Amino acid sequence: MGSSDHSSPAAMPSGAAASPAAAAEAPALVGHWIGGEVAAAVPGSRYAPVFDPASGRVASQVVLASAAEADAAVQAAAAAFPAWAATPPPRRARVMFRFRELVERHADDLAACIVAEHGKVFSDAQGEVTRGLEVVEFACGIPQLLKGEFSEQVGSGIDLYSVRQPLGVCVGITPFNFPVMVPMWMFPVALACGNTFVLKPSERDPSASLLIARLLREAGLPDGVFNVLQGDRMAVDALLAHPSVAAVSFVGSTPIARDVHETASRHGKRVQALGGAKNHMVVLPDADLEQVVDALIGSAYGSAGERCMAVSVAVVVGAIADRVVARLAERVPRIRVAPGTDPEAEMGPLVTRQHLDKVRGYVETGVAEGAKLVVDGRGLEVAGHEQGFFLGGCLFDGVTPQMRIYREEIFGPVLSIVRAGSFDEALALVDAHEYGNGCAVFTRDGDAAREFASRAQVGMVGVNVPIPVPMAFHSFGGWKSSLFGDHHMHGPEGVRFYTRLKAVTQRWPAGVRSGAEFVMPTNV
Ligand code: NAD
Repeated sequence: MGSSDHSSPAAMPSGAAASPAAAAEAPALVGHWIGGEVAAAVPGSRYAPVFDPASGRVASQVVLASAAEADAAVQAAAAAFPAWAATPPPRRARVMFRFRELVERHADDLAACIVAEHGKVFSDAQGEVTRGLEVVEFACGIPQLLKGEFSEQVGSGIDLYSVRQPLGVCVGITPFNFPVMVPMWMFPVALACGNTFVLKPSERDPSASLLIARLLREAGLPDGVFNVLQGDRMAVDALLAHPSVAAVSFVGSTPIARDVHETASRHGKRVQALGGAKNHMVVLPDADLEQVVDALIGSAYGSAGERCMAVSVAVVVGAIADRVVARLAERVPRIRVAPGTDPEAEMGPLVTRQHLDKVRGYVETGVAEGAKLVVDGRGLEVAGHEQGFFLGGCLFDGVTPQMRIYREEIFGPVLSIVRAGSFDEALALVDAHEYGNGCAVFTRDGDAAREFASRAQVGMVGVNVPIPVPMAFHSFGGWKSSLFGDHHMHGPEGVRFYTRLKAVTQRWPAGVRSGAEFVMPTNV
């Protein structure tokens, strides 16, 4: 184990996914956090480059865990479990209170970390930290949340109570698009419930996880209770099969979520796996035009569309469609695209060149499929950042349900307009789609909105709210191919996921023996 987050580049072994530069200019290393400290680089390790998306430059190299390193992280968490599980919930809550103060104090450091590796604009990154912090605040109330149920006198002299107990070692596997918030959907609740944790962050923006680990240690969390394992599929495979892992929380794309759910279930784990999305915003003819356009600009192009709750499809009902498209055609090219560190920026770059190429590929597909590309952001250049992974906002009109750009998740700044003839037609589109993460309806008609919210086959619904992300004391999760498993994340569902129920029936007979009973006990 070393003592700093970044080992000497000169010590970096070969075998990197991108060839390391000469020692003098070699980028820093991002390592694991195991047992309360940064793990030293192991000779022969694999590495992957971490980019600064605004410049396109390799900013650091992240180590990719082997099965042996995954085992070390799980062993550290397993060793720490008995003492942490036995720590009274109010004391666990006090650690969360101190962590909450530290996250608030270091909020801008965390936001800067996010901007540097993800690319989103700084104010948006600050918002991400706040939404994560809210889950920590929820976890501070864990003594109240873990209160069990008690029934006195369920039979003569017999009482029955139910308690929730921690599971053991819990694993969190998280996506690139929220490197602080999504881990915080998981570990504050898991830890407060008395579990220990191994976080496997995205290898595309791994650094925030180490800052979180340091803040947890500073808050007084015992070593080994929270660990970070950097890596890719090899790390995930090792964690899913590890006999000492009790539960797996996953957030990422649908094919991987489905696979993680199946594999972890096969290995006997409790698992919740949240997948991708294609969120529809239904615009009814009576909606306020300017509210609709503001909502679409923010929710489709904010964070360059790299949000699981981004609106990527607007289903516009009736004659308002022409005006919506005309206003968007004016507004989309005016979105200020710049590095996330620029205080004027409204939209930053995409996360990697590979992802940029994928999103550009979808724009080409949409054109080939016959959709009308009203705004083409592919020509955008950001002066001084020509090698950055920038794409201007793109807008398609005349999109139909058969097109790939309608069916598949693009995860970039591309909005598709589908025109519908009626409320029922629009709702049928929402319901027929493979994904069911979020959706929204914009209208002034309360009756129509109520009907929509009740009938939509989607996990989170917004009424005149484009990105209906529930607060931390409710729970987050989609339906259909957007979630595999039974539990949503954080809030009451999080407490249920990270605990198991035990029912205790007790009596204290006063010396009178009634003899063996051969019939099913009842209280008749
Ligand atoms: P991803 O599926 O590529 O990666 C997610 C995690 O899985 C990462 O930690 C990654 O290292 C790991 N992983 C990647 N390939 C793997 C494999 N073959 N086997 C095992 N593990 C693997 O997702 P991403 O690109 O990082 O994130 C974007 C996706 O996440 C989008 O689809 C987005 O909709 C989704 N997402 C969903 C939610 C939600 O709440 N439903 C929230 C955020 C992001």
